Amino acid sequence: MAGRKRARRAARRAEKEINAVAAEKEQEKLDIKYMKQAMKQAKKAALLGEVPIGCVIVYYGDEEEPEAGHVKKGRVIGRGYNRRNTDKSTLSHAEITAIRKAGKILDDWRLEDCTLYVTLEPCQMCAGAIVQARVPRTVIGCMNPKAGCAGSILNILEMDGFNHKVLVTRGVCEEECSLMLKEFFKGLRQRLKVGDDKSRDS
Ligand SMILES: [Zn+2]
Repeated sequence: MAGRKRARRAARRAEKEINAVAAEKEQEKLDIKYMKQAMKQAKKAALLGEVPIGCVIVYYGDEEEPEAGHVKKGRVIGRGYNRRNTDKSTLSHAEITAIRKAGKILDDWRLEDCTLYVTLEPCQMCAGAIVQARVPRTVIGCMNPKAGCAGSILNILEMDGFNHKVLVTRGVCEEECSLMLKEFFKGLRQRLKVGDDKSRDS
């Protein structure tokens, strides 16, 4: 009898583990899907001659959540891309724009039940805004060793002592995100060089 009970318990445990692994795999797929959408935003920045950084915010809450105004689970509720030079504003970072839009959709400054996807590790301003907005989870494409504040220079997202700590996943579509930046800067250097040669010729 005891043996059978133990076997049932073991089977339940195994089933739970399988479900957890399946959920994790499903989440990994979703993370890639939404990071690609953030990359699409980044490309809009590149078209403006801005450093290609893009962001989307996805609502993962309950479909029946009345406060969220019946926002469906899995809906992208905020998009943004870097427009710092275009807008002549240091506030025009991808994440800030996406946070502003998501708050409008949810009619709340608290972005609970949301995941923020960003192609490059957030700066100190954006990491601060992510904490302030109570975003529970952030997914990062590639890291920014010279300015990132999600583990590189500082780790504002996972700092003990603040009243909110963000769950961070790094390295989703890392190579593509980093290649996008490398290509942009390579193009920029070439354009500058052509400009230099031209001014020397004249
Ligand atoms: Zn920023």
